[in-house]
Order: sequence, then C-alpha cells, then structure tokens
Amino acid sequence: MAPPEETHSDAPPASEQRPPSVDSLARAISDVGLPHPLLVDAARAAVATGDPAEAEQRARAIAGEQARSLLTSVVNATGVLLHTNMGRSPWTNLPDRDSSRYSSLELNLDSGERGSRQDRAPRLLARMCGAESAMVVNNCAAAVLLALAALANGKGVVVSRGELVEIGGGFRIPEVMSQSGANLVEVGTTNRTRLGDFEEAIDDGDVALALSVHRSNYRITGFTESVAACDLTGLGVPVLADLGSGLVDSACQWLEDGPPSWLEGEPAVRQTLEAGVDLVTFSGDKLLGGPQAGIIAGRADLVARCVAHPLARALRPGGLVLGSLQELALTYLGRDGRSIPFWRMATTPVDELRRRASAISPDLTADTTAVPGGGTLPGVEIPSAGLVIPGDRVAELRTGAPPIIARVHDGSTVIDLRTVHPRDDDVVRAAIDSLT
Ligand SMILES: *Cc1c(COP(=O)(O)O)cnc(C)c1O
Repeated sequence: MAPPEETHSDAPPASEQRPPSVDSLARAISDVGLPHPLLVDAARAAVATGDPAEAEQRARAIAGEQARSLLTSVVNATGVLLHTNMGRSPWTNLPDRDSSRYSSLELNLDSGERGSRQDRAPRLLARMCGAESAMVVNNCAAAVLLALAALANGKGVVVSRGELVEIGGGFRIPEVMSQSGANLVEVGTTNRTRLGDFEEAIDDGDVALALSVHRSNYRITGFTESVAACDLTGLGVPVLADLGSGLVDSACQWLEDGPPSWLEGEPAVRQTLEAGVDLVTFSGDKLLGGPQAGIIAGRADLVARCVAHPLARALRPGGLVLGSLQELALTYLGRDGRSIPFWRMATTPVDELRRRASAISPDLTADTTAVPGGGTLPGVEIPSAGLVIPGDRVAELRTGAPPIIARVHDGSTVIDLRTVHPRDDDVVRAAIDSLT
C-alpha cells in the first residue's frame, strides 16, 4: 500500500488563522531567520504587551532572543577542557559518508542479513584498549546500570564504603545499584577499606560481583586505606571497575610527547584490564575526548551478557554516536592525538598560547590556569595563557555570535586560550575590540 500522500498548502490551517496584524508583523521580522510559526508566536507576544507603535521592535527582540537560545556552538574560553555545560569534549566527527544515504547500522554487508550495531565501533574500541570485547550505551551511568543489571540482578555487589560516590548530575552508586536490581553489600568504612573486608563479605553471602568505583571528582587524604580494582581479582567473583574518565592507555601512544605529567595516577582502561579486572565502564566524552557515550569493555562472555540484557535495547546509542565513536577509535588506533580536539588542547605548549594571546592583544596577555574538568582529575591544574580584561564582561561576551564563554577571577574577566580553537582567535579579538 502506498503511504498516504502529504498535502501541502501555503495557507495556514484554519486553526492558525490570525488577525492580519500579527501575521504581517511576523512577516516583517522574517529576517530573524526562525520558521514562520515561531515568528507568529513572537509577534503575538509583542502585540499582547505594551505600545502598538513599538510592536515590531518588541517582536524582533523576542524572536531574536529565541533564536539565540537555540542549541548552538560556542567558544569555550573558560579553560575548563571538559565543561559539562558545554557538552564536555568537542568531538563531532562522523564517517565520511553521504548524508542523503542510509547507513549500514545493523546490516551485515557480507551476508546481506541483519547485523548488530554493536559490531563496528565497539570492536574498534575494544582493539584500542586491549579488551576482548566491548559495547556502547548512551553514557557511563547507563553502562554501570546495565552491567549491574546483567551480571548481578537479585545478587550482591560488594563495594567499599569509600566509593559510594555521587558523580555530577546525580549519578549515585547506591541509587544506580538499587535501580539495577542488584543488592548493595557495603564493606569497610569511608576512609579505610581492606581486602579482608571484601573477602569476608564474599564468604558470607550471595555475591555476584565486586565493584570498584574510580573517585573521579574527589580525593580522600589522611588516615586512609583502600583496595585497588586490580587487587580484587583473586576473590572468586568477577570485578567491575567503573573508571568513568576513560583514559585509554597510560602510555598515551597517541601523543607525540607521551603522557602529560598531570595525568599521573589516573587509572587507564588498558592497564586496568591487563591487571586482571574483568570489566570496565567509562564515558565517551571525558578523557576519551569523544561524543557522549558509555563504554563497557572487557571479558567477552560478560559483555555478551550485557548485550543480551533487555535494558541494552533501551540504552542503545544511535548511528550518529556509533559513527562518531568509530571515527574516534580509528583516530586513536592511528595514534593521531593531534586530531582529537581534547588532547590537542590539553597538550598545547603554554608558549604557543602566550604567542596567540599576544597576537590578539599584547596589553591584555597573562598567564592563566586551565583544568581538565568534567568531574575528572580533581585538583589538577594545567598552566595556560590568555587574556585578562578588567571588570566583569562575561555577560557581554556571551551575547556575541558565536557566544564566548569566559570566567571572572578576582574582579577581572579571564579568556583562557587553552580551550579556544586557534581558528577562533579572530572571534576573540573582535569581541574584545567591541568591548573597548
Ligand atoms: C563521570 C562518571 C560517571 C558518569 O558518566 P556519564 O557518562 O556522565 O554518565 C560514572 N562513573 C564515574 C566513575 C565517573 O567518573
């Protein structure tokens, strides 16, 4: 049967017919560039309030505000490399394909039969971090939820009281645990947990999994003792390490100069798996530098149980994310860290940033301090450079096209160039010129 034919007509449906004044007002502000129904909304709001003589001006202002409030690209001049409010890492690359064509998302090109969307990007991601197998879901919270549901539903999961964390945005381990249907078995204390605590709990009860959670966004110092994920491997139950941040390999082969010193101590996916941990979970958009995603990697039989779980269908990513991750994995495998914006920005020598700053405005050039952000590497500072403008000018900078997001420090506006693409230096220069 043919699909019903869509009918098109230039005239709005009867329900949308309106007084000519609103309609002509909407037409008069068409240069704002929004679809007509949204201009009509703005015109209507403008007519409903205030002086009719100024209706067009008000309508233009209302529509302009709506246009500016749409999701858009911004210049991140905060020096926070992974800024949660700006989508964490800036990676949008997609496989080079014709966007008017379909994709092979779930098609096996050899057999012509249905394939799995978990076959391509996940396979490359597994290769990249030395895992037997991997799968992709929408974010790391989903990865943890799925792994717990698939491997420990109705059973105990033993975890240190020092790792019952909340990661930004309300991701709380005890809550995720209860949603998964697994039973939280807390051991140790907030500051000290020993291997023996885990052993006792596993001897006592129906424990399916030992969970280690990376303290991504806080540190415990002082009288402390904790058990590393790799020390949990001899206890007779699989070990899941929620690494969160997603550093692929502590050797950072994709960086010409090797790992930067500020990465010291950050657990990496490859080394964690090599140390015998059965499964790891991590984000796509933190230190991996990719799109929002969650990756489950490790033992093939455990990953297969996650893939087969009904929740996997609800948490699966779309082709855009999988394509984007495929490109990212190929870039890592090609050891081309310069092509990954997060790593390029994170490792730009500070002298280069100083040169760029003084080319923009020698008088305003100053050293600054950048941070990894995104709830990773708390306390880590990365030397940086940029421009410091007297006074609080951040609201004005946000009104630009594109908006520039800066920060205020000690009563001055700081534009940190570490997180600004060099291509946007001209944008920054023009914005600063327009302030003075
Ligand atoms: C960030 C983080 C998460 C949550 O990751 P999302 O991708 O934001 O869902 C979970 N666990 C740890 C340890 C993290 O650092």
